[in-house]
Amino acid sequence: MAKDLSKIAKQKKIKYFLISFVDLFGVLRSKLVPAEAIKEMQKNGAGFAGFATWLDMTPADSDMFAIPDPDSLIQIPWNKEVGWLASDLWMNGKPVEASPRVMLKKQIKKLSNNNMTLKSGVECEYFLINPEGTAIADKRDIQSKPCYDQSALMRQYELIKEICDAMLKLGWGPYQNDHEDANGQFEMNWNYSDSLTTADRHVFFKFMVKTIAEKHGLRATFMPKLFEDLTGNGCHAHVSLWSGNKNLFLDKGDKLGLTRLAYNFLGGILNSAEALSAFFNPSINSYRRIDAPVTTSGATWSPSKISYTGNNRTHMIRVPDPGRFELRLMDGSANPYLLQAGILAAGIDGIEKKRDPGQPLFVNMYTEGDNYPNIKRLPADLEHALECLSDSEVLLSAFGEKNITSYLKLKENELKDFNSKDTFSKKDEITNWEKTNTLDC
Ligand SMILES: [Mg+2]
Repeated sequence: MAKDLSKIAKQKKIKYFLISFVDLFGVLRSKLVPAEAIKEMQKNGAGFAGFATWLDMTPADSDMFAIPDPDSLIQIPWNKEVGWLASDLWMNGKPVEASPRVMLKKQIKKLSNNNMTLKSGVECEYFLINPEGTAIADKRDIQSKPCYDQSALMRQYELIKEICDAMLKLGWGPYQNDHEDANGQFEMNWNYSDSLTTADRHVFFKFMVKTIAEKHGLRATFMPKLFEDLTGNGCHAHVSLWSGNKNLFLDKGDKLGLTRLAYNFLGGILNSAEALSAFFNPSINSYRRIDAPVTTSGATWSPSKISYTGNNRTHMIRVPDPGRFELRLMDGSANPYLLQAGILAAGIDGIEKKRDPGQPLFVNMYTEGDNYPNIKRLPADLEHALECLSDSEVLLSAFGEKNITSYLKLKENELKDFNSKDTFSKKDEITNWEKTNTLDC
């Protein structure tokens, strides 16, 4: 029996609910609904005009309805009279296939049919900047190697504490907060969970960080690359497959601590990496972070080529510990649902086709990568990534041709708009178009 949101509102003194969804571009959209009306909305959903969002619809389409998932309820820690809800989109009595949360749930179902669950954790890097978006917020944060800088971290203590306290209250199990490798850059980690829970929390985390930063007179951005000379915002994911309490990736007898199943899953991701970039690095700006010139800190910490290794951060996939691996391709503009859905789709294909990832490579890819010309490079720009997606039999069959066509159409329109105003070159300065369209991603 689903939780009764109307009853919960009374118990928890919630006056309003945000019935929210994320469109294909990862934009978080909502209706604010008084608790008095939640009973009806829980059943039939809140109405939206699909064309007004980044979904492939027309103004003539009938209303779509966001039906909230009561299990996703978050009582907003800094405004307890509001409850936040993630929703699935429905139209004409059917789920909207090309909506990201529905796309993810379909992949989860496929895996659960084989008694497996993906567990994942995400590491969302962000910058604290001035409200205009022109410079980092802390003018004293100028070390050339600023990673883990205690003073710069503690100058933001009030803000970071408020976010971490919120996660503690919500039961996410946050366990560390730090200053990252770029001036003005931070990361906060909370416990991994099943992929849908992690995706919902990822959506909420971005909203929470931006909102709390605003409260403190600052702005937070997850934009992949805001400053040419500084490390960009990655969004790495640690993944493992489970059956009940058993980690199906863990083999203590293997040199990296992985099972054959894990290698096949990993092999699937390597195989589809170029096409996955269209989901994992979905903005024009994303391609300034991948295969980027060295930053002032000495490294970009982002991958250039499609390779895997042990505990070595210069590769696209790192195996830091037995029983899981870290995928380092994604950036801060990735749609939280398509991020998890993409991992699942490519990984399931790897299992089904028993894809062999080959031997891990134990070299510094930043300095020695050119010695391995047979290892493929990641796409150089969004246009190339979209081409790879349109050619990907794996992702076309996992998500359906119609959904991929919708995604490609919207992204190609975005590229057209950009190309009519500017040109993309990693050597040139970051364009105003990128800043206007990606700062609040
Ligand atoms: Mg990091």
